[in-house]
Amino acid sequence: MSDTIAAIATPQASGGIGIVRISGQEATEIADRVFTSASGHILKNAKGYTAHYGFVHDAEKKIDEAIALVFKAPKSYTGEDVVELSCHGGLYVIKCVLRAVLKNGARMAEAGEFTRRAFENGRISLTQAEAVMDIISAQGEQAARAAISAMDGKLAKRIEGIKNKLIRYAAHLSAWADYPEEDLIPVDTNELSGNLKECISELEKMIAEGDTGKVIRDGVDTVIIGKPNVGKSTLMNCLVGSERSIVTHIAGTTRDIVEERVVVGDVILKLADTAGIHSTLDPVESIGVDRAKEKMNHAGLIIAVFDNSVPLDENDYKLVEELKNKNCVAVINKTDMEGKIDTDFLSNHLKHIVYISAKNENGIDELSKAIADILGVAKLNPADGILVGERQIDCCRNCLKMVEDAKNSLDVGFTLDAVNISIDCAISYLLELTGERVTEAVTDAVFHNFCVGK
Ligand code: GDP
Repeated sequence: MSDTIAAIATPQASGGIGIVRISGQEATEIADRVFTSASGHILKNAKGYTAHYGFVHDAEKKIDEAIALVFKAPKSYTGEDVVELSCHGGLYVIKCVLRAVLKNGARMAEAGEFTRRAFENGRISLTQAEAVMDIISAQGEQAARAAISAMDGKLAKRIEGIKNKLIRYAAHLSAWADYPEEDLIPVDTNELSGNLKECISELEKMIAEGDTGKVIRDGVDTVIIGKPNVGKSTLMNCLVGSERSIVTHIAGTTRDIVEERVVVGDVILKLADTAGIHSTLDPVESIGVDRAKEKMNHAGLIIAVFDNSVPLDENDYKLVEELKNKNCVAVINKTDMEGKIDTDFLSNHLKHIVYISAKNENGIDELSKAIADILGVAKLNPADGILVGERQIDCCRNCLKMVEDAKNSLDVGFTLDAVNISIDCAISYLLELTGERVTEAVTDAVFHNFCVGK
């Protein structure tokens, strides 16, 4: 039986309310040692889902007024007995409460230990645990909604759908292979191949959505490019400075800023090397220069800026050539000035064109919509349940590969045994994804990134 753990569950800052969470077999006894209810209730005897007003104290004195919320196993977050002591928010006070709880028999929880217990007690799947972590760190509405729908179990249901199908096929194939003398319905290979194709489509869709989700959560490497004087810095400042943006400066070793993160709509743009935007991204120096080309090749998104007030020149034509088959949005800037640019040429060669005036901050919403469109974010419905993190996407990729192997083996006429081996492997990857069959090392890695108190 696991011991009783405790931690501060609210952020480590002053706030309206602070919560110390206690979970384990002795949660109510320990809470009773530090909490006295005003109406004389003993928490050990209290029913689950009840709230009790009273005081928290240590051996010498009252610490604070508090509400004790009691949850009884298995109907709690962790699946164990849980008491949450909600106090007034001061960090000092809440630390005193935690200290009293620890002195009275609880052990300090490790990072993610509450959620790990929820997983180990079967309350949530591994994908849901990862979603909890994602909710905590989500930036932006889309990311939070995606994490919440994963937490709700929507993702688990999608995975379950594929898993159950594969298990059904595997069972049928095994029965057919192991008991040939029984009067079993023969395996219809055409039908099976069709069904595997459906699984492949669904897995491909989930992986693509997961990749887009990654863009929402982690951001996309973005390059702003264009000849000198088109307004790249002005646009950059406009994105960075606008209210809709959140900027973080990540310190580098060789220069002050190596990356800025800007939230545009639902997308985080990781603008690399903005400190050197003038010198490194000007096409006079950089188009044809390997480093800039490489930057463009590795970028998840290119914002190519053109000047509305002057005709296109050799630099612009070269740039348009470079942009072929890349994820790019062409920005025609300085629309507050008389237009001399050949917009027909640009719209014939580039798919996404947005008109802006960076100086007047006009057209930025359109730019944000175009970016969402290009990255597939606009099509993504976070409520569908989206894979989060590399681990989940990898499990799905491995599963997809196995289902493809199974279908290929079937289509070229290998034995049903061979087909079944691939299906079995595919199922294993899904079980690893949900945590139903997962190694201790993987579980450790998942919970390693959690914060204490969750
Ligand atoms: P960069 O060399 O591409 O980074 O260009 P800058 O951002 O330094 O801008 C070059 C010049 O164009 C500056 O004088 C800006 O004030 C001006 N500029 C930038 N955007 C606009 C715009 O939308 N309208 C007008 N009229 N001028 C702009």
